[in-house]
Amino acid sequence: MNHLPTVLITGASSGIGSVYAERFARRGHDLVLVARDKARLETLAARLREESGVTVDLLPADLTRPADLATVEARLRDDARIGILINNAGIAQSGGFTEQSADSIDPLVTLNILALTRLAAAVAPRLASAGNGAIVNIGSVVGLAPEFGMSVYGATKAYVLFLSQGLSLELSPKGVYVQAVLPAATRTEIWERAGIDINTLSEVMDVGELVDAALVGFDRRETVTIPPLHVAERWDTLDASRQGLLSDIRQARAAERYRSAD
Ligand code: NAP
Repeated sequence: MNHLPTVLITGASSGIGSVYAERFARRGHDLVLVARDKARLETLAARLREESGVTVDLLPADLTRPADLATVEARLRDDARIGILINNAGIAQSGGFTEQSADSIDPLVTLNILALTRLAAAVAPRLASAGNGAIVNIGSVVGLAPEFGMSVYGATKAYVLFLSQGLSLELSPKGVYVQAVLPAATRTEIWERAGIDINTLSEVMDVGELVDAALVGFDRRETVTIPPLHVAERWDTLDASRQGLLSDIRQARAAERYRSAD
């Protein structure tokens, strides 16, 4: 019997999720892999069982479909072996805001925000009552940068960062570790799927390097891990500056500059 916690990984059929699966398998964790493409999950699972001797369960699901999402939520709620959730499945978009249609906005927001939040909510009470476990949410540096011109995608990732910071504050006193991972451009299929030519991007990180760096942050129990950020103090300064606002933003009176002259 495996005494390490089982890891449930969403978006495990390719890219960052599939590398997380490989790395946790190498560490000896059993896995539950979630994505839509069952054939790809089966191929990955067979390889990982063979290479690492771990148990790999498949949970094919389209997380934008309510019934599928409910199935994964139930697994997270009920399977006490699952101690780590890697909330990774996500999609991007191409084009500016005026080019977005309801059909493109809907799955983006549903997958990147709604599914991620509901999966975290499904597992958190059980982990909190056990007094241990981890939730890893994959955000993006785009969530820090409206200037990058991916407004809806970036907004979903800003949400992931905020949610992770809030959950960390709520859950770490209960023994549950919450990490936000913010990759920059990483060589995966996400770009092609969004209709963006990866060759137009500069400074693209290898997916193995990204996940290995994220796992260094995981092992250190960092709340926010930004693998491409070389000068760590830049994040510390930004966060300290934000925290500096906290004592100022709760006021009964409007600021002087907003009071009318009369
Ligand atoms: P990817 O290779 O396209 O992987 C996305 C994964 O999500 C796939 O396994 C895909 O599998 C799954 N997925 C997509 N739609 C789904 C749905 N409706 N239901 C269930 N699973 C679904 O992209 P990636 O780069 O590894 O992306 C992983 C995460 O990293 C995303 O949250 C992304 O926003 C974030 N990220 C990526 C980059 C980058 O440059 N690559 C940068 C910053 C952040 P199926 O198609 O089989 O469902």
